[in-house]
Amino acid sequence: MCTIISISQSALKHNLLVVKKNAPNSKIVSMVKANAYGHQINLINPIINHSDLLAVSEISEAKKLRKITKKPILLLSGVIEDQELQQAIKLNCQIVVHDKTQITTINNTKQPINIWIKINTGMHRLGLSTHEYFDCIKLLANNPLINTQCVMSHFACADEINHPMNQSQLFEFKKSTYHTTKRSMANSAAILSNPASHFDYVRPGIMLYGVSPFEIINNNLKPVMQLSAPIMSIKTIQTGDSVGYGATWIAKESTTIATIGIGYGDGYPRHAKNGTPVLINNNLCPLIGRVSMDLICVDISNVKASVGDNVILWGTQKLRIETIAKHSDTIAYELLTGISSRVAFISTI
Ligand SMILES: *Cc1c(COP(=O)(O)O)cnc(C)c1O
Repeated sequence: MCTIISISQSALKHNLLVVKKNAPNSKIVSMVKANAYGHQINLINPIINHSDLLAVSEISEAKKLRKITKKPILLLSGVIEDQELQQAIKLNCQIVVHDKTQITTINNTKQPINIWIKINTGMHRLGLSTHEYFDCIKLLANNPLINTQCVMSHFACADEINHPMNQSQLFEFKKSTYHTTKRSMANSAAILSNPASHFDYVRPGIMLYGVSPFEIINNNLKPVMQLSAPIMSIKTIQTGDSVGYGATWIAKESTTIATIGIGYGDGYPRHAKNGTPVLINNNLCPLIGRVSMDLICVDISNVKASVGDNVILWGTQKLRIETIAKHSDTIAYELLTGISSRVAFISTI
């Protein structure tokens, strides 16, 4: 018995259909960076098979992905040195150009390449300025080996629907790219909230994995990753007894507690507060005391449970990862990508 993550194939398929329904006229670039947001690239076949492109952050990820699919891969980091360009070409990647230092390397290619040009419209992280962008297209237009597949940009505040940056970035993007044939701007939040930003390619990430990009949980999306662990011990403690490191939680009355075989060493957040829910036999039970490396304790005074029972930490309609993120002062993205290597992954229907 151990901590297990199951990856639901039907939920992946369902969430991809939600993308298609929301953006019926756009091609889909599925974000599978960070090992598919922690879901493991070898366990997300519905996404790999039914997307138009797959995007990764770096060459090492493209290498692993290329071993399992022939689908087009978009390399978000792009390349700086010629040696990286050679690797990217060998892996048949489409290459993002986001910084002016990359342009010379790209322009010196000896083989045909497909590139995506990323422009900055207000996030100020990656992306060419408008001025650099126009210089870049002028320069590369003369190179018959380079095909500019698409021009892209990224929203800074798409998860806040009414944030003024969304309109200003979209305006900036349209202004700079009015002459371009293919464009891409929308992440999950924009796919769900802003059809004007869909253009030719949408770039879903978090929604594919069944997580709402907004504050509010989205019941149209199905959770993909389910994290579970067994109850290892049950005991009843008395008024005044403390639980866990630092003795931060003290029983106000006689309390039955279950100790569960999961902790921050598995990727359960150490900052989960007292009261964070876990699901035992379909009942929500509150976390008590500090999260340890291998163990947590919960109050099961009102619930029937036995040693060996399976506990769900997140990933059902009743207990979403968004809720755990909120109780831990973080975001679901961080929890998903923080699962440690000792946790076993299985694929489920
Ligand atoms: C990760 C990423 C996305 C996806 O964002 P979500 O919020 O997970 O949908 C889209 N575009 C770029 C450039 C990204 O890096």
